[in-house]
Amino acid sequence: MFENRERTSIESLGEFGLIDHLTKQIKLKQESTVKGIGDDAAVLDFTGKKVLVSTDMLLEGIHFDLAYTPLKHLGYKAVQVNLSDIYAMNGIATQVTVSLGISSKFPLEAVEELYQGIYLACEKYNIDLVGGDTTASRQGLVISVTALGYADEKDIVYRNTAEEGDLICVSGDLGGAYAGLQLLEREKLVYIENPNIQPDLEGKDYIIERQLKPEARKDIIELLKDIDVKPTAMIDISDGLASETLHICKQSNKGCNLYEEKIPLDPMTYETAREFNLDPTVCALSGGEDYELLFTIKQADYEKIKLQMDISIIGHVTEASAGCNLITKAGVIHALKAQGWNAFPPAP
Ligand code: ADP
Ligand code: MG
Repeated sequence: MFENRERTSIESLGEFGLIDHLTKQIKLKQESTVKGIGDDAAVLDFTGKKVLVSTDMLLEGIHFDLAYTPLKHLGYKAVQVNLSDIYAMNGIATQVTVSLGISSKFPLEAVEELYQGIYLACEKYNIDLVGGDTTASRQGLVISVTALGYADEKDIVYRNTAEEGDLICVSGDLGGAYAGLQLLEREKLVYIENPNIQPDLEGKDYIIERQLKPEARKDIIELLKDIDVKPTAMIDISDGLASETLHICKQSNKGCNLYEEKIPLDPMTYETAREFNLDPTVCALSGGEDYELLFTIKQADYEKIKLQMDISIIGHVTEASAGCNLITKAGVIHALKAQGWNAFPPAP
């Protein structure tokens, strides 16, 4: 889905013409970028720091659907999901590279819209675009983004270092991206049946944005630094709260208790889930793509965290033999599972 109706063929520019056209206005911002686009490799200088690198690939039809994803949003999201991984290490993100596979159905104007989103994300998060690759694809659009960043060794937070007794915290609210996806999928079906019907997304902006235009939680990393709290373990929520909690617990060789009543849900997420006959808690646990941060802190840091409006304490770390549990609002204990929550009865 792209808004500009002009169609300039990419062949008319050629590969080098296209790259030049898309990247000529770049102004480098980061001190660590010595050389950006234009040579065989970018040159970066992270003197004295540990370098963080993370890659994600997005495929049309697997990770995104252009029937309801504007290309500008797609470019924005492709960068955000990678920055989120750098922040989840408690690092500072500084550069990205962007590699594209483009099929012949995309005109130049479509690729331009994609790059508008990429540049908007780079602008907002102070990131340099320092390279990439561009090739033709037989079918569909492929976007692979690599994010680079840095941290002092003492500041890096891994997944495998949670300790028994630590408090489990999460930023923002959960399940919204999945609720937004349900709406977009429904409106797509309505549109396929009758293209004259306008999509009915009134008043649902928040969850639509959660799906189409997520924001990596750089602000939470900065907040934690400000209040002098270093998480003991951290991960970003791409696959859902359940899956990510299990990653931290398994890798740390610990168990956990999560409390359903503490899981942060936006009212719009709650309402929409109910509209679709879904359990809102299941959306938070298994929905994914919220790109919030899940982290553990020492109990001694409780006082510093408890007043933070945008951080919820949702449980605690236990010994491994206690298992990973969800305690429901009704007080029933369920083993935490990454998927298969359909068996979990909806709240009355
Ligand atoms: P090479 O043939 O050495 O791989 P390319 O012709 O692919 O070089 O790329 C030329 C320059 O443009 C390099 O600096 C590369 O990183 C950059 N580049 C190529 N494709 C993209 C893209 N889609 N987005 C941003 N930079 C790109
Ligand atoms: Mg190349």
